[in-house]
Amino acid sequence: MVGILALQGDFAAHRHALSERGVATREVRKPKDLAGLAGLVLPGGESTTMLKLLAEFGLDAPVKESVAQGMPVLATCAGVILLAREVQNPPQPSLGLLDAAVVRNAYGRQLASTVATLEVAAPDELPFPTLEGVFIRAPKLVQLGSGVKVLAKRGQDPVLVRQQNILAATFHPELSPKHPVLDLFLQLVRRGQ
Ligand code: GLN
Repeated sequence: MVGILALQGDFAAHRHALSERGVATREVRKPKDLAGLAGLVLPGGESTTMLKLLAEFGLDAPVKESVAQGMPVLATCAGVILLAREVQNPPQPSLGLLDAAVVRNAYGRQLASTVATLEVAAPDELPFPTLEGVFIRAPKLVQLGSGVKVLAKRGQDPVLVRQQNILAATFHPELSPKHPVLDLFLQLVRRGQ
């Protein structure tokens, strides 16, 4: 069972994408919803609102603990902002689990949202020359720690990274049909990593 943080944002699209792959999902709104999960999705949306709701629903500490203990997690867009070590533009608190800083809305406003072609930087994990990336008011990952592996880039920018059990995409794989990043996440879930 894979949990999907369902406080705000595009959790329904993640649920749909995973159920198309035959994966059972549970919407996570309370600490008890985290019990027994094999993996967790932190969706895109509005990170400031999600952060507020995480605290209000008492989920911040339990989510942090589950991820720190090694639960496989797929974070997309605002989900990456929640996990980062440091948030810029503007600064806001975060769970500090991903050893990278993020610059919010780094590609401009809604009108600058786009579908881009990404270059795969780690063909051992993603055996494809390129991937598609749907970017919606996306953040930029900067100042990556040495334990953070870059899996795909948009130009010079790392847009898909993995730090052990954390897979973080600044784009929205759940909005592309049959996106390989979801399969990579499910591999981590099946390995229990
Ligand atoms: N711009 C949003 C934020 O800073 C993230 C956008 C998204 O998740 N698509 O929180």
